[in-house]
Amino acid sequence: RFITFEGGEGVGKSTQIRRLAENLAGAGVDALITREPGGSPHAEMLREVLLSGGARQFGPLAETILFNAARDDHLEVTIRPALAAGRWVLCDRFVDSTRAYQGVLGEVGPDIIRSMERVIVGETWPDLTVILDMPAASGLARARARNAAANRGEAPDRFEGESLDFHERLREAFLAIADVEPDRCVVIDADGRPDDVAAAVFAAVRSRLGL
Ligand code: C5P
Repeated sequence: RFITFEGGEGVGKSTQIRRLAENLAGAGVDALITREPGGSPHAEMLREVLLSGGARQFGPLAETILFNAARDDHLEVTIRPALAAGRWVLCDRFVDSTRAYQGVLGEVGPDIIRSMERVIVGETWPDLTVILDMPAASGLARARARNAAANRGEAPDRFEGESLDFHERLREAFLAIADVEPDRCVVIDADGRPDDVAAAVFAAVRSRLGL
């Protein structure tokens, strides 16, 4: 099974992925946690390139190509072999982030985005996409607090400095994806206690994937 986690900045994806992996382990399911951009040695190199220069390093089309190049490698080297070995794969961001960040916010046309999805994702489409949702102001405050508190040895989130309107549009972009693909996507209210969010995620995974 292939599950992706999506959402704006600061919604708690990495915490919730870890929590889901723990819950799955309790149910006897071995899950690999991975992330985008990154998830394979070469894709992690592209992550460095993409995230080191702030939000405006490349134009949106160049960005789309680079995110997709990283995704192609990640799929080939990490995701498909794990799925073929019978593992569950939990991925922090995937195609929907490209649709939202590069597509909606970067204004790269849906025809370009979709044709790259066809070529690169092919049949390896997520069985379930968990969209963690909260008001943009909450996510932004959480992202800023986290980045201020922790020196994670990494550049701060690229869009931390963007306006609230930017983050609202991001949120709407993810919600719109869930509206169009309700069979693949589940929207979880992430503006609560991490324990409650984790319980909601696990319940959704169990009911959607029949665990
Ligand atoms: O999820 P994470 O915070 O690790 O993502 C790193 C950064 O890359 C974030 O600021 C995110 O907004 C950005 N990103 C992007 N386009 C994508 C995926 C991530 O701009 N397709």
